[in-house]
Amino acid sequence: MDTDDPVAFLTIDDGATRDPKMADVLKEAGVPATFFLTDQYVREDADFFRRLRDATGSQIENHTLDHPDLKSQSADEQRRQICATSDNYEEEFGRRPTLLRPPYGSFDDDTLRAAAECGTTHVVHWSAEIANGKIQFAAGDRLRAGDIVLMHFREQFREDVDRFVEEAEKSGLEPALLEDYLT
Ligand SMILES: [Zn+2]
Repeated sequence: MDTDDPVAFLTIDDGATRDPKMADVLKEAGVPATFFLTDQYVREDADFFRRLRDATGSQIENHTLDHPDLKSQSADEQRRQICATSDNYEEEFGRRPTLLRPPYGSFDDDTLRAAAECGTTHVVHWSAEIANGKIQFAAGDRLRAGDIVLMHFREQFREDVDRFVEEAEKSGLEPALLEDYLT
């Protein structure tokens, strides 16, 4: 996203793998994150995500009900995937999501319309991805101010968060919370 501040944003998707140690990892790293959660995993253990959010100063956002490729869905189904998730999270977590990340980064005009109707103000993509402790940049070979980094709730959580911290330091950037910039 556009900012002149020396910041980078960590976003963590889906929620399939859950481990109580994840809170310590984020706290030790001093990194707040935006969790784009799929509702199917929230329903398995909403308490886990509530505690993780509260312990780390993070936020919970919309990543649909069950992770479809939205572009291939009807407008009605897209609306259901986005609105029902926001309704559920508002009830479960006491805050209505303001951000949507479409699964696979796949969206069309119906997605944007449904996202706005369901109360989200931004559709969020990413400019670098971390997996298995390694980072891949969409362009270039380092992080830049305003970069949004994607990782997932996976077994390699600590390696992936450590990689984010290292890459941010290398580029002179501070971890920041995306919601503080996308308002
Ligand atoms: Zn996803």
